[in-house]
Amino acid sequence: MEFGRKRNKMRCHRFGVAWVLVGIGMLAHSASPAAEVNLYSSRQPFLVEPLLEAFRDATGIEVNMAYIKKGMLERLRAEGVNSPADAILTTDIGVLENHAQAGLLDPVDSRVLTNNIPAQYRHPDGLWFGLTMRARVIFAHRERVVPGEVTTYEDLAAPHMKGRICTRSGKHAYNISLLASVVAAEGEAAAEAWARGLKDNLARRPQGNDRAQVKAVKEGECDVALGNTYYLGKMATNEKNPEQKEWAAAVRIVFPNQDGRGTHVNISGAAVVKGADHRDDAIRLIEYLAGDDAQAIYARRNFEYPVKAGVPLLEMVESWGAFKSDAAFLTKIAEHRTVASKIMDRVAFDH
Ligand code: FE
Repeated sequence: MEFGRKRNKMRCHRFGVAWVLVGIGMLAHSASPAAEVNLYSSRQPFLVEPLLEAFRDATGIEVNMAYIKKGMLERLRAEGVNSPADAILTTDIGVLENHAQAGLLDPVDSRVLTNNIPAQYRHPDGLWFGLTMRARVIFAHRERVVPGEVTTYEDLAAPHMKGRICTRSGKHAYNISLLASVVAAEGEAAAEAWARGLKDNLARRPQGNDRAQVKAVKEGECDVALGNTYYLGKMATNEKNPEQKEWAAAVRIVFPNQDGRGTHVNISGAAVVKGADHRDDAIRLIEYLAGDDAQAIYARRNFEYPVKAGVPLLEMVESWGAFKSDAAFLTKIAEHRTVASKIMDRVAFDH
């Protein structure tokens, strides 16, 4: 924890230094701004740094990254037109949409981005672009759940699942997006009935993160859990906390709704900040991240799926099997987040 904070400070400091250097450079030349991009990232440095280095090697453009774990929107809003940020990198459709709706992003019209990223995973006006994809799946205990017993999200609300399900808070962005996808597909009344049924089937009050649910399955507290796919990879290969390997080994992935609308997916993505000084270089960075080389590195490093078609998957991710994803546009799903959040309150999901 302490280490994390120190690193964080160091990054901000480095960012500050880089910014000062730009100032000097501009004084000396006073021509076009230096070839560089100031990036605010809520994605962890281990994930992003190799990509930024590869981008610099390929283009000569330096990226100054500030790692901002929480509060990026508030910071951009507070900095206003004085913000040094040219681009942001973050996870979750809801977070990206919040930045768009707060008027913090500028639209980008790029043939590379529209070619490489399927339309459902980017903003229709180019305000943000999905770069990696994760599915919100069911982790089922290998023995206690018979294959075919749970094949849909709707099954989680069925009587035979009573007392067998674990999940994190219903108000967490991942579960809000999932419920919003149910609203988009089935309407508000059906979504509320589903949320109520799911809540009634929980083995315990919502608590912990996605990994904690898999632990609870391993320990017999519940038989199935909701979770994002990449956590299974991160647990299965966790040398720092090897007990997580046992949690992962206890479950198999069920991709829900394969005979229907498909499994709910979410994204991590990028956007250009409104009024960015290094707009063109920021666009080049996002185009690079949507290219074949970066797509493979980026997705592999976090056990995610590339958004670009034809990019090879990590072996483990491939071993989970191909699946059909919900084809709904993520902007459409995001529109239902407020309703989803109210449903969670109405069914008192966390209580
Ligand atoms: Fe996550």
